[in-house]
Amino acid sequence: MIRLSTGTAALLKMANCISKVPPTTAYMMAGQKCENNCRFCSQARDSSSKASLLSRVTWPDFPLEETVDAVAAAYKKGNIRRVCIQIVSCRESRGNLSRPVKMIKDRVPEIPLSISAAFTSLEDIRHFLDLGADVVNLSLDGASRPVFENMKQKSWDRAWSFLKKASHEFPGHISTHIIAGLGERERDIVESVQKCKDLGIGTGLFAFTPIKGTPLESTPQPPLVSYRRLQAARYLIMNRYARAEQFSFNTTGFLTGFGMGSLELIEILGNGKAFETSGCQGCNRPYYNESPRQIPYNYPRPLTREEIEKAVAAVIEGTRVFS
Ligand code: SF4
Repeated sequence: MIRLSTGTAALLKMANCISKVPPTTAYMMAGQKCENNCRFCSQARDSSSKASLLSRVTWPDFPLEETVDAVAAAYKKGNIRRVCIQIVSCRESRGNLSRPVKMIKDRVPEIPLSISAAFTSLEDIRHFLDLGADVVNLSLDGASRPVFENMKQKSWDRAWSFLKKASHEFPGHISTHIIAGLGERERDIVESVQKCKDLGIGTGLFAFTPIKGTPLESTPQPPLVSYRRLQAARYLIMNRYARAEQFSFNTTGFLTGFGMGSLELIEILGNGKAFETSGCQGCNRPYYNESPRQIPYNYPRPLTREEIEKAVAAVIEGTRVFS
């Protein structure tokens, strides 16, 4: 068996539900209850959330063989562009956890495949890349030392040292997730994104999402206007339009300027790409961070002209307010 996000199951025609925007990646989860204890995560050791939740998405079990058939068919039809398998840190053997990757790559060798896991050894990364994964995601999540150490109860220095080692050993194959809204400053996120860019590490930006049964269940999500500034900053850095050192911040770490005029900013952000889901190519994560009724933090599809205008206006207005 393997767990699939509800949207993935619907897209693969393995579950009967309708998703307003279908995922462009097949999201899967291998392994049961996690041994780590991240304070924001529903899969954490001490969380009392439903075991079938990750972020605000449910992940029911499906037979592996049937899933592999459906993935192959969906990829051939152009309905998915990638597979992403979240490997939960658990006692299951590497052999068992590798089975879905092996079966999918045997069946569709050309399909791009990401593994997201809390690996701490280069050997684990090498193993999954050798099986055919093209990206291994090592989630940083917290963007500053106090936030990271409080949220994950792990060493910030060790996490960065491993990210560095992995990016040197496997250039172009390492990515990370960064969550906005865990108590860090905007400056921390911007500087972490720049550090990743300099190391050749891909970055996927997430908005913190409170989940019932976790210690952060009552913590609010980050303000949308702040998230828009961070998306803009990430886009400028990752696409080499600017470096973090050019940006300005106020004394409390709010991003107050991008080191360029409004007109230039409007031109660069005018295609709306900065506000779409970021991360591996082909990953759109619909409704990971918000209900379909909310304005998306990460748009899982191209934005309309009106949405682009609002998002860009929020970036520009937001930086004026805080300057
Ligand atoms: S960016 Fe998307 S595809 Fe890549 S590891 Fe993260 S969730 Fe998976």
